[in-house]
Amino acid sequence: MSTFQAPKGTYDLTPPRSATFLAVREAISAPLRDSGYGYIETPGFENVELFARGVGESTDIVTKEMYTLTTKGGDQLALRPEGTASVLRAALEANLHKAGNLPVKLWYSGSYYRYERPQAGRYRHFSQVGAEAIGTEDPALDAELIILADQAYRALGLRQFRILLNSLGDKECRPVYREALQTFLRDLDLDEETRRRIEINPLRVLDDKRADVQKQLTDAPKLRDYLCDACKAYHEEVRALITAAGVVFEDDEKLVRGLDYYTRTTFEFVHDGLGSQSAVGGGGRYDGLSEMIGGPELPSVGWALGVDRTVLALEAEGVELDLPAVTSVYAVPLGDEARRVLFGVVTELRRAGIAADFAFGGRGLKGAMKSANRSGARYTLVAGERDLAEGVVQLKDMESGEQSAVPLAEAAAELAKRLG
Ligand code: AMP
Repeated sequence: MSTFQAPKGTYDLTPPRSATFLAVREAISAPLRDSGYGYIETPGFENVELFARGVGESTDIVTKEMYTLTTKGGDQLALRPEGTASVLRAALEANLHKAGNLPVKLWYSGSYYRYERPQAGRYRHFSQVGAEAIGTEDPALDAELIILADQAYRALGLRQFRILLNSLGDKECRPVYREALQTFLRDLDLDEETRRRIEINPLRVLDDKRADVQKQLTDAPKLRDYLCDACKAYHEEVRALITAAGVVFEDDEKLVRGLDYYTRTTFEFVHDGLGSQSAVGGGGRYDGLSEMIGGPELPSVGWALGVDRTVLALEAEGVELDLPAVTSVYAVPLGDEARRVLFGVVTELRRAGIAADFAFGGRGLKGAMKSANRSGARYTLVAGERDLAEGVVQLKDMESGEQSAVPLAEAAAELAKRLG
């Protein structure tokens, strides 16, 4: 194995592709920032207990996919596999829910870790932008989050995504359904592992991708028929609000999601250009999570969108983001005196907020002009001894090819004017 190889299931973000990742994070978070969500950052690891209790002991995420470690001091930690449990933990620790301003609306962006079988779109280290609205039960809040995710994807130019929506019921009706489903499933012809799953997390069996399993599930009891009146009314209101916002969605009663904490509204964003790892984002309501981790009753809702898969979705649709040129002005000095002078101009431009770069390393004109081209700069500044003797620099418009001498003292102001 080469020493220069990133660990299995991971990859590096390098320019120029890395610029797209930044732009995606920015595009997903912009609608949140405009809607009252404040930024939160939590550690990359937590006590393992938080995820065991919060995400659920019966989930693949906790039983198979978590990176756990024991510190030299004997603490049991886990690299975070998802964001919600940590964000809720942090909000409770900081007493944000007691500041008298519910819901507490938070957004985050960061790295997550799952020991999964790597494949296209599925990595062991990946990146999410997420949002949580803590402490309020209101269908408009569920609708807000779905609408904002839709807005973010549309702003990025994505079109081939679909929103799948379901309700998982609450602590009144879900247990009744769970039992009916278990009774049905126990009579089927299933392997040992699936049989075990029936006892711990029967809803996940509905999610089984195998055709022979799906065939047997045709007559499985439907959660929809078991929803209590309160859950039904809540779900209808969420549907009505997002419909009124012009957001198209599909009802998907099979959508159960892989985490234990969801109640009522659950949704997933899937992209049709991604093959098997088609979920670009997902979320839902988690009214019981706070109590599961030892907090007060705080009904909440949130989502997380995968940055890696969103970038893959953009590539699948052939969407080119309109990324601003990194460098506006590139300075090419010819000789030592010019180097000092132009380096000064570059510093002045940067301080004035103009993106500028410099031909470092004392290369010849040809090589330096190549770098200028590659930088995407709109203008280059070239100066040699003769120019300096005349008190000018050569200003070249890289688009039109036009070049003119500009007094050195006015170079920065002239560029500022031309760049608007
Ligand atoms: P989840 O919490 O599993 O619903 O994940 C939310 C989003 O994070 C998914 O829709 C994916 O976009 C992304 N995601 C989850 N796991 C991975 C992974 N192993 N590799 C890349 N992206 C992932």
